[in-house]
Amino acid sequence: MSLSTSAHAVWESALGRLQVQVPRPTYETWLKDTHGELMASNRLIVRVPSTFVAEWLETRMIALITDAVSAVTGRTSEVELRVREDQVVLNQVEPPPANFSNTNPPLPKTAFNSRYTFESFVIGPSNHFAFYSAQAVVDQPGTAYNPLYIHGSVGLGKTHLLHAIGSKAAAEGYRVQYISSEQFTTEFTRAIRDRRMDEFQQQYKALQVLLIDDVQFLAGKDGTQSAFFHIFNELHTNDCQIVVAADRPSGSLVPFNDRLKSRFEWGLSVEITEPDYETRVAILEKHAGRIAASVPSDVVAYIATAATHGVRQLEGSLNKVLAMSQFSGEPITKDLASRILKTAYAARSNSPEAVIIKVATFYGISLQDIKGGARNKAISQARQAAMLLLRQAGLRPDEIGVYFGQRDRTTVAYAIQKASARANTDSTFQKSLEALQNVEN
Ligand code: ADP
Ligand code: MG
Repeated sequence: MSLSTSAHAVWESALGRLQVQVPRPTYETWLKDTHGELMASNRLIVRVPSTFVAEWLETRMIALITDAVSAVTGRTSEVELRVREDQVVLNQVEPPPANFSNTNPPLPKTAFNSRYTFESFVIGPSNHFAFYSAQAVVDQPGTAYNPLYIHGSVGLGKTHLLHAIGSKAAAEGYRVQYISSEQFTTEFTRAIRDRRMDEFQQQYKALQVLLIDDVQFLAGKDGTQSAFFHIFNELHTNDCQIVVAADRPSGSLVPFNDRLKSRFEWGLSVEITEPDYETRVAILEKHAGRIAASVPSDVVAYIATAATHGVRQLEGSLNKVLAMSQFSGEPITKDLASRILKTAYAARSNSPEAVIIKVATFYGISLQDIKGGARNKAISQARQAAMLLLRQAGLRPDEIGVYFGQRDRTTVAYAIQKASARANTDSTFQKSLEALQNVEN
């Protein structure tokens, strides 16, 4: 099967799944005119008709979409939405040097997201250090800061910077590979199963730049960590530039191999923090410009003040206002924005019932089931997710128990503990939680 026929087939079956999961108008409006275009490694590129559709799907449905695609491919997959006119930047790892055994299969192709460039990254006090370090790394890979370790909480631009490094380095002719740590784990596991460990390690040897995302997901995976440790050493000795992204400083990675942690501290560690007000305004303006929406400055100012949890929420809030204005025909005003966002934020914080409904809807199960005693896997996972979200919203276990058939606090505390352990190791679960936090009730 060629890369494009398989992409087509995968996306068609994922659409089949989504069609039964989402309301019909949603399907018709946002999903119907999309096409699976290319499947490179575990990343599926999907064409969508406009930037607006891309943004909408990305902020509201990406977790659901990713799950559907992963269910079809049978492994953790990533989905990238591309607007028709965007270019696909495919970086094929170059032919290996002459002295390199040519029995080694090439690494999977890396498809860099053409939206995540240095040019589209808004610089501010919260991220300028990370930004300039990332640029320095492309200017002279393997020399200045090796490894470069970028950390910060979710949605603050780490993946964006890794892709920016990747596509620029690839354009300059370096052999580059971007890999998420889940993908690394999958490939490592497969290599063990097929007894291809040597091959697996060999594939990395020819690289000049290795970008590895979300290394916190390697926590607790001893075998994978140790494979990565060896690859890291080999590459580092060969002056290959390594860039690592994580949601926390290397010192806080647990449970984690100490030797590997200390390697992360060899180079430079930079943090990205929440953008300040001016940076948030600049990000919103850039975002509006990109999707060709004209948004009055008082609306931008309002959103920048109201949405303070990461860049993704910022962009999501603007999308929400634009979508509402498009559907209702109401002009984009501060009044419209405040009505939409106030309900969204208020509902989000103070109604446990609303949170539970949201989770049940997301997982496609009934309220009765999520609150009741059923123990099947899907239902208990949804229940744990709801409990964890309520805990994160500040409710105590005994208070949470009340909403779930008067469960006692120990049972609730245990479920929450399980859910949070799971969020650290199971990235699909973590993504669902993120998606749930971003969706209004
Ligand atoms: P992370 O990997 O840290 O969770 P991402 O890199 O996925 O975050 O960023 C989330 C979204 O926010 C992306 O759409 C990204 O382009 C955007 N973004 C984050 N920081 C910036 C920034 N400084 N300028 C422009 N867009 C940004
Ligand atoms: Mg990321």
